[in-house]
Amino acid sequence: YAKENGRNTYAFYSPELSRSSYEHFRLENELRTAIERQQFLLHYQPQLEVGSDGIFTVEALVRWQLKSGELVPPDSFIPLAEETGLIVPMGEWILNSACSQARQWNKKGLKIRVAVNISGIQIMRSGFVDVVEKALETSGLPPYLLELEVTESYVMNHIEGVVETLTRVRELGVTLSIDDFGTGYSSLSYLKQLPVDVLKIDRSFISDIPKDSDDEKIASAIIAMAHNLSLKVVAEGVETQQQLQFLKQRGCDLAQGYFIARPMTADALEDFMRDKSRTVYAVS
Ligand code: C2E
Ligand code: MG
Ligand code: MG
Ligand code: MG
Repeated sequence: YAKENGRNTYAFYSPELSRSSYEHFRLENELRTAIERQQFLLHYQPQLEVGSDGIFTVEALVRWQLKSGELVPPDSFIPLAEETGLIVPMGEWILNSACSQARQWNKKGLKIRVAVNISGIQIMRSGFVDVVEKALETSGLPPYLLELEVTESYVMNHIEGVVETLTRVRELGVTLSIDDFGTGYSSLSYLKQLPVDVLKIDRSFISDIPKDSDDEKIASAIIAMAHNLSLKVVAEGVETQQQLQFLKQRGCDLAQGYFIARPMTADALEDFMRDKSRTVYAVS
């Protein structure tokens, strides 16, 4: 029995559990160190203005750069950063470096607006508006060249808590967009209450166009609804010419995805923007 008890007690710390909590602990510490040492890197993905074929906005996407040089994608550390609150200092670093990068580009004559993903945890922290204001001030970036992306699900679930903050941020002259739109169970009426400028249609509604005619209908409906509310629409995850063609026919304003360009380093983006021979995406 003693043995059995012992085993049962031990079962609580099953190898699997202890490994995973150890992993968790190790990852948290590594993340903390990485923040202190600023071992992150931003990649930038262009958004194509479907009507004019121009590029004005790029989305900043964070990567964790390991000593080996390997880049860890955000989905494998943002959730932990949010859980531990580390997203707050990390998010501040991201915002500051995106703003100063955009300011550099604009100084060099490249007219680029940067869109930065903001975690709900950051918005809920008091002082978020000051953080944004300070990032603009320190970098010297004009507010209209900054866009902030907030996910639909977060905003929906914390509507009372975020409206005032978002309103104040928008009053600074910053553009606000709702990310991953269509995945957050919105009652559409809430959109009217929100101080937003842009809807980003989630990739899941784009990836099966034209195979899935329901997705085509959903994407079309989102575009029409956004326009009725005087919002701009970005389609995320555009991977084919056919998808771009479809979006153009439906009057979608902007397209982002591998068909246009993958996320790339700041230097590569600069080359991309200056490349006059860059593929023209014009579709009829
Ligand atoms: P998101 O904001 O919806 O960003 C779009 C994601 O889709 C990016 O993944 C991008 O690389 C990917 N993507 C773009 N075009 C295509 C395409 O044509 N096909 C496919 N399959 N994927 C495409 P990434 O960079 O791995 O970022 C994933 C998520 O991590 C982001 O989703 C965002 O929610 C979060 N994230 C990224 N950077 C930040 C950040 O700086 N702060 C915060 N809080 N979250 C971030
Ligand atoms: Mg985003
Ligand atoms: Mg998205
Ligand atoms: Mg996403």
